Amino acid sequence: MPQASYADSHRLSIEQPEVFWAEQAQRIVWQQPFSRVLDFSQPPFARWFVDGTTNLCFNAVDRHLLQRPDQPALVYISTETGQETSYSYRQLHAEVNRCAAVLRAQGVGKGERVIIYMPMIAEAIFAMLACARLGAIHSVVFGGFASHSLASRIDDARPKVLFTADAGMRGGKAIHYKPLVDEALKLAQHPPQSVIIVDRGIDQNLQRVPGRDLDYATLREQHLQASVDVEWVESSHPSYILYTSGTTGKPKGVQRDTGGYAVALATSMQYIYGGQAGDCMFTTSDIGWVVGHSYIVYGPLLAGMTSIIYEGTPVRPDAAIWWKIVEQYQVRVMFSSPTAIRVLKKQDPACLMRHDVSSLKSLYLAGEPLDEPTARWISDALRVDVIDNYWQTETGWPILSAQPGIEPLPKKFGSPGKPVYGFNVKLLHEASGEPVADEEKGVLVIKPPLPPGCLSTVWGDDARFVKTYFSNFHQQVYSSFDWARRDADGYYFILGRADDVINVAGHRLGTREIEEALSSHAGVAEVAVVGVADELKGQVVAAFVVAKDAASVADATGHQALEKALMATVDQQLGAIARPAKIHFVALLPKTRSGKLLRRSIQALAEGRDPGDLTTLDDPGALEQVRQALLNPAG
Ligand code: AMP
Repeated sequence: MPQASYADSHRLSIEQPEVFWAEQAQRIVWQQPFSRVLDFSQPPFARWFVDGTTNLCFNAVDRHLLQRPDQPALVYISTETGQETSYSYRQLHAEVNRCAAVLRAQGVGKGERVIIYMPMIAEAIFAMLACARLGAIHSVVFGGFASHSLASRIDDARPKVLFTADAGMRGGKAIHYKPLVDEALKLAQHPPQSVIIVDRGIDQNLQRVPGRDLDYATLREQHLQASVDVEWVESSHPSYILYTSGTTGKPKGVQRDTGGYAVALATSMQYIYGGQAGDCMFTTSDIGWVVGHSYIVYGPLLAGMTSIIYEGTPVRPDAAIWWKIVEQYQVRVMFSSPTAIRVLKKQDPACLMRHDVSSLKSLYLAGEPLDEPTARWISDALRVDVIDNYWQTETGWPILSAQPGIEPLPKKFGSPGKPVYGFNVKLLHEASGEPVADEEKGVLVIKPPLPPGCLSTVWGDDARFVKTYFSNFHQQVYSSFDWARRDADGYYFILGRADDVINVAGHRLGTREIEEALSSHAGVAEVAVVGVADELKGQVVAAFVVAKDAASVADATGHQALEKALMATVDQQLGAIARPAKIHFVALLPKTRSGKLLRRSIQALAEGRDPGDLTTLDDPGALEQVRQALLNPAG
């Protein structure tokens, strides 16, 4: 980026994307050079680095073998099991080759899908990189999701193999994965042929289905000396599918390409995250989320950094644990979420003073709005730059940042900054689709082509990609479904979702998914789920339920019994992550005359705000019901 300023470099990236990205593409190794930087002949589909062949695993691992074979590539730390293991690039290369040989022996080849349903252990990353090596497509399913969520992802991705572990651990408690996998495979229409299990020895009653379930340690032994050739793939070849929630009950498979993603991440490591080869990066997310894909696994490894993979909570054994890690491994770049920092804020302040964190240059926070008190608190306590960045599963890397390119910008608390190079961001009026003036609220959209690294389509459903993201305004623009405003200095402020998506502690949940899980219970006639503002987690899930038998919830005992059963239903189907914080029983739900649920009005009431425009409300009694239920939560 030879330009002198943020503004110049951003302008170049928008006005001459081919020039800008051709230069960035030199950061990665191409086996065969691309013939064109961009093919945008079929908007809104963008193909980056056409005809170029490359491989994500080669760029993340093999390429470093010459210069830094003995540098730690991954450091695995579990405060749950006490394990701490470091893998050099040479060792990582060997493990990835073994894992790739194991998968290949199960018939996994180019284009084949592998579901990775794993706790935060190093083998999860070996499996991801092994898929990339083979040109196979991984789909990591967050370990906190339960059978139903796993089954729907299996049916959409149709994997050849499911890679899992006996159990995960959180807060000292074991979470047994295998029974959830067994249940999911019963529910699935297209179960994989084989299930490879990393047996950590946590589940003493681990059951194996003969002929289907295989032990990873045994298979690995058979391939200890394996050397698996890299499969060079065309730039647009899918590297992975990552499911995310939307407004329907069916999660969308965000499909990522290979070459564009590699270039986008490698560029972001320098310009946004300031990570140099040899530096250590500690991203506290989970590999089940996009932040984990981009900044635990691929980003830091592409840059030749050391990446920390952490299993545990921020407060065990005490709230100093993350800072202890920072000191011990001389972490230079750290990436976490506002909720995690709010959790730490409630702990003993002495924990922050116990360790020398002077190695740390910046702390990046993303996933949900960052409030000013939290940002100030952690920035003062650590004496580091706190950098908010805004993005989505779909984009794979930041859209807005206070470090959006060549130079850092003066910070404005409450704002994740300005558009990052490559993103042509606009704010449009929800109804007219016209650009809004400064300080006015609009929907944040991106004028295509989306830059490299963003989703190339929805897995198996191009029509859904176009309809979901590009059909909301009269001009074809990508909708983020986030409200935002821009101030006179060009800083953006995110004002919450414009759709029915809930963000709990930075995790995205669809209201429809939770409603469908609740409705599957025989005692439920109707249900509305909304996100309600919460000091710690940003939002929590609240459900308003019409019971089939009103008498069954007439007293506190009946109310509590059904509430408990409904919570268990959500836990079982989707996972505890989607469990409502509160279930309210009502006789009627507010709807429009055409029968559409008025979730926004329910949410406003639950947050003590005005329910808004009620001209379309069918029965005003329904709002009164919601008010009463909120006043009298015991039923
Ligand atoms: P996910 O796809 O799960 O990463 O969720 C993306 C959504 O999280 C965005 O559409 C925003 O609603 C929200 N989000 C992510 N980062 C930020 C941020 N820095 N500030 C405000 N909201 C954010």
